[in-house]
Amino acid sequence: LTDLSGKTAIVTGGARGQGAVEAEMLAAAGAAVLICDVLDAEGEALATRLTDEGHQARFLHLDVTSEAEWAGALDEIRGWTGRLDILVNNAGIINRKIIRDMSVEEWRKVMDVNATGAFIGIKLAAPLMAESGGGSVINISSNSAFSGHYDPAYTSSKWALRGLTRTAAMELADAGIRVNAICPGLIVTDLNRGSPHLKPMIGMTPAARAGEALEVAQLVLFLASDGSRFITGEDIVIDGGFTA
Ligand code: NAD
Repeated sequence: LTDLSGKTAIVTGGARGQGAVEAEMLAAAGAAVLICDVLDAEGEALATRLTDEGHQARFLHLDVTSEAEWAGALDEIRGWTGRLDILVNNAGIINRKIIRDMSVEEWRKVMDVNATGAFIGIKLAAPLMAESGGGSVINISSNSAFSGHYDPAYTSSKWALRGLTRTAAMELADAGIRVNAICPGLIVTDLNRGSPHLKPMIGMTPAARAGEALEVAQLVLFLASDGSRFITGEDIVIDGGFTA
């Protein structure tokens, strides 16, 4: 069993969907988890439930595109457990418009949340992680980052996360910080519920089903733990064979 007692984690976009399951698993493994999101009511409810169940969890409003709010999150951690071991850059949005229909503003919004948000998080969290003796950063990319798709901003932002993962892994290895990306395929959550793409994608998946948030969270747990201590700069696809 993975034991993360004494460790502290941040999960962005942790109020619902995959992030909520990741926060729950990290907390259940013994980590103190700061759940960060723009969805205050959902995030507060999750932190309260986890605390009631005997885990260590707090919620903090954090828009990942705001450097000031990231600084606030790091202050919160310094005043709480005083250390940071795990950062899960999970927050993400999608805009399925094709290039012809997408405004520059819409493009920037997706890139800002999905790619720049993770960059700011790594930039501000790395010093505290280094002080804590090292750590693990896990960027939630997508299997969209292995080919082209009809959602240009989302696909480009997820390719960007793969590049950020590799360069950050090189830069931060000296500080004992590992940086990896998880690239999920179709996982049914609020991001894609009701999407017309679901059925055809399942049809193209050798495993013939969508994935579950729990399956991604188990990979997060592994990458957060010492069991993965020699893995860094890697992107791990979890998509039932879709990309194969
Ligand atoms: P979701 O929409 O349920 O969750 C995304 C979370 O991010 C939400 O809680 C949302 O409030 C939060 N968020 C959005 N903008 C934010 C911001 N600016 N600051 C902080 N939080 C913000 O979707 P999900 O499926 O759970 O997605 C989680 C991650 O997994 C995303 O990065 C997504 O791109 C990625 N992903 C999802 C799938 C899938 O099939 N669901 C596949 C591959 C990758």
